[in-house]
Amino acid sequence: MSRSQAADPVRRRFLGRLLLGASLAPLALLRSSRSQAAELPLLQPSSPAARKLKYVADASQAKAAAKGDSCAGCGLYQGTYGSKQGPCQLFPGKDVLASGWCSSWEPQM
Ligand code: SF4
Repeated sequence: MSRSQAADPVRRRFLGRLLLGASLAPLALLRSSRSQAAELPLLQPSSPAARKLKYVADASQAKAAAKGDSCAGCGLYQGTYGSKQGPCQLFPGKDVLASGWCSSWEPQM
């Protein structure tokens, strides 16, 4: 880089913005992933929709649940691997507990 290029204010401003953008990009990604992982209100087992499908917060309490079956292993569970709660396709706008279970449980594909 020659002296005349380093002294060019337009070029310096451009390079400054480029560096600022590069340094802020990881923060933007972090913020984005946090907003996607925002938790929804938990489905209450006493709600009519939950009762209709016999949803329980603890799969071990469900007589009809096969041993080891829970929301975490259900094909309709949309929580991330290892999450304690996450969305379920059957209960829009609500999270279910990974430890929960309902009568619509189905194996993951
Ligand atoms: S459909 Fe699956 S993830 Fe949803 S509440 Fe029932 S068992 Fe849990």
